[in-house]
Amino acid sequence: MDLIIGKNNSILRKKLNPAKDFDRQLKNIVTEMKKKLTAAVGVGLAANQVGINLALFIAKPKDKFYVFVNPKIELTKKPILTEEGCLSLPGQWGYVKRSTEVKINYQDLAGKQRKLKTTGLLAHIIQHEFDHLQGVLFIDKTKEVFEINKTNE
Ligand SMILES: [Zn+2]
Repeated sequence: MDLIIGKNNSILRKKLNPAKDFDRQLKNIVTEMKKKLTAAVGVGLAANQVGINLALFIAKPKDKFYVFVNPKIELTKKPILTEEGCLSLPGQWGYVKRSTEVKINYQDLAGKQRKLKTTGLLAHIIQHEFDHLQGVLFIDKTKEVFEINKTNE
């Protein structure tokens, strides 16, 4: 499972298909994604970022993993400008307007329908990853993309 990189990579630009089979294979994909996210020291990862065409993403705002399959989201608060980066766009960041609260309807790994209302970092991650599932990257939503100057680190 390799990380898919680059704003023009067609894999990152396609809307993903809904997951239909809640089987062992799906669980294995999520297990591999969790390993990948941990290794990359990221907070969220969508399936297309590792080349999988399924509408699912994982989030890890602190120590706990969240798994969202076939999500639908509703933005329930006014947006604020937030700093954002992406594992698929290394070295780049920008400011994106994100709601401070979201409601998400999704399925868990057993296929059970669930819902969650959340704020803070998890709400932010959910909006970024949900965009990935539509083939949208944060650079599409920011006025200016900044490059991290490695010599200043
Ligand atoms: Zn991303």
